[in-house]
Amino acid sequence: MTPTEDSSARLASPGRTLTQLASLDVGLLEKVSDKKRTALNSWDVDSVLDLLWRYPRRYIDRTRQSDLKDLAVGDEAVILATVTAASQRRTRNKKAMVELDVDDGTGSMRVVFFNQAWRIHQLKVGSEALFFGKLDSYRGNAQMTNPIVDLLVGMEGKVQGTAKTGRIIPVYPQSSKVGLTSWEIGTFVAEALARAGEFADPLDQDQRQRIDVVDRTTAMRGIHAPETLEETVPARRRLAFDELLRLQLALVLRKRALEADARGIRHAVESGEANGEPSVIQSLVRSFLEQLPFEPTNAQRRVLNEIFVDLASPLPMHRLLQGDVGSGKTVVALAAMLAAVQGGYQAAMMAPTEVLAVQHFFALRDHLEGLSVPDEARLGGRRDVTFKLLTASTPASERRFITEGLANGEIDLVVGTHALLTDTVVFSSLGVAVVDEQHRFGVEQRAALREKGQRADGTRHDPDLLVMTATPIPRTAAMVVFGDLEMSILDELPVGRTPITTRWARTDLEEIEAWQRVREEVASGRQAYVVCPLVEGSDRVVATSATEELERLRTGELKGLRLGLLHGQLKTPEKESVMSEFREGRIDVLVATTVVEVGVDVANASVMVIQDAGRFGIAQLHQLRGRVGRGDTQSFCYLLGGSITEDATTRLEAIEASTDGFVLAEVDLEVRGEGTILGSRQQGKSDLALASLVRDRDLLEAAAEMAREMTADDPQLRHHPALAEELRATLDEDDAAFLFKG
Ligand code: ADP
Ligand code: MG
Repeated sequence: MTPTEDSSARLASPGRTLTQLASLDVGLLEKVSDKKRTALNSWDVDSVLDLLWRYPRRYIDRTRQSDLKDLAVGDEAVILATVTAASQRRTRNKKAMVELDVDDGTGSMRVVFFNQAWRIHQLKVGSEALFFGKLDSYRGNAQMTNPIVDLLVGMEGKVQGTAKTGRIIPVYPQSSKVGLTSWEIGTFVAEALARAGEFADPLDQDQRQRIDVVDRTTAMRGIHAPETLEETVPARRRLAFDELLRLQLALVLRKRALEADARGIRHAVESGEANGEPSVIQSLVRSFLEQLPFEPTNAQRRVLNEIFVDLASPLPMHRLLQGDVGSGKTVVALAAMLAAVQGGYQAAMMAPTEVLAVQHFFALRDHLEGLSVPDEARLGGRRDVTFKLLTASTPASERRFITEGLANGEIDLVVGTHALLTDTVVFSSLGVAVVDEQHRFGVEQRAALREKGQRADGTRHDPDLLVMTATPIPRTAAMVVFGDLEMSILDELPVGRTPITTRWARTDLEEIEAWQRVREEVASGRQAYVVCPLVEGSDRVVATSATEELERLRTGELKGLRLGLLHGQLKTPEKESVMSEFREGRIDVLVATTVVEVGVDVANASVMVIQDAGRFGIAQLHQLRGRVGRGDTQSFCYLLGGSITEDATTRLEAIEASTDGFVLAEVDLEVRGEGTILGSRQQGKSDLALASLVRDRDLLEAAAEMAREMTADDPQLRHHPALAEELRATLDEDDAAFLFKG
């Protein structure tokens, strides 16, 4: 494409909006040749805005850069040098080796890469690059081995010299695959900035002052073309705030749009007083709570109340219940489900695994005994609450019976796996849907369960939705990932739980102690879990390795004890029989894969040994450990495995030091970074490029507050047209259409 007069004119006008920048093809820039435009496109840079949103990965402060002549062996340094010779060969043990001679004008050194054969194509003679690394000496010559490289000027760049004018050089993430150097990107960005002139700012002076951020023009210049490194700090802050504000606005608008579209149910709840606090509890729920063998914790009462207020409201509930392992989420979910049943609706609970679904089914069976609902068709006017289990291994005849019962309303409650989502499952009228261990389901599956509000008679309503997770996520991450959900937190464990002592057994001696402890606990009537090492591969491979582990222990460390085996390849009846033998105490030690991670609830188990613990993530270790400490005796968890990576060390030390899921979640966020937590949310143009959930907590809170304020009486953002326009330009089309319809 060639620049048209019209678009050149737009390039020259002041107060550039993001929408305008998004509509300008990056090929309009003079410095961008057709070939480079293709390269940019394959790097997902189509518009000038896309380009400006590729922020520098870091900066080189040229005043800090070293000269080769001043360096001594052992120094860590950044050297800007030109390649003067390049060659490749194979070492004696067949490794690819690329050797360069580089010169920075003050001296020269050798640069060697092993197993990076592609460097020969990247670093041709004449190219200029930054080499980060430690200077060593090989046969008397200065050398860097496998340094980090930032290519500034490739052979094709032909823009020599200018790189040395600024004191601060931005280093762009460059994709050698598409053939763009940091230097080239820098020149494109510089042209775009020069031609854009001023940027329109959707925040006015007052708003900027309130949150202490600079204006957008200053920010854009400060991030791409800073004169000092200090300038990059407020620039980053402002641009990160913009990202968070757009994200929060999108989430709030989404929530408002869903509400506007909703056909919720006003569940029948009574209100009254309980413990001096206002409470809204129904009679079926009341009987349920009264016949529990324990008192609900204060946290459970509080959360129940939050849920009941939602249930009574005409808007469908979208609530996330976070609660640490063992905090008693199941009871809360059951109460919510019974609230639906009391009013003549049905309720469903979906769990990620069969073991967990079965476990929940047992909880239903234990807790619902003797509960009845009004039924005029029956003698006496009441009938028992009916509930069923539906999983992939439910036999066909039973399944038919269940789907019939759900369609005609004879079944009140159903627990199951994703089998619940199949098309043949239609409810007479689903009032409450619960998703357990929500992180194991995608957003679509959550939505699919909600779709089951489509009634057998063709009419539709939106069931109230409760999603639960025992993998607490830090508040900041929750605000981003689940910003469209209300949040309830069970921050209190039932009384009488004794803390779990966790030991990381690093040495053989400590490992011997761990097994000793298992035998002692079993001798005093307790039970134990052994979690098998994480192995990669098919379910079958996992099962085989678990079986081998069992055999090893049977003849080794745990000789003489009654061992049982649980893994995903067992057929349901086998799984059930192993679980019930363990529950009934006929098995001393359950050797299991991570299928025990969620839901298994045997209070008599007091010790867990996790093999090769360094390979598990924090959340998973925390979940696993939560299987013990459920009774009233001191429990133990041993993490086995010695020499491991630095990250793994951090993880195991964190698990050893804390049993608080929220504390561990913060550590996890810091170790893994937000990418893994945000997961599928990180897509398209609403990505967080600069904002960090670890560092930018205050900005996120401020953005959320501002988004709430702006949309409070203005769900279409009519009073903030500039922001509305930005959202439209940066969201994907479907989202934008959904948020701004009407
Ligand atoms: P999680 O939050 O991990 O899903 P569960 O709902 O499985 O926890 O509860 C763990 C165990 O604690 C269950 O055996 C449950 O019956 C029991 N429990 C739940 N609430 C209480 C309470 N308030 N007091 C005592 N025990 C409770
Ligand atoms: Mg649970």
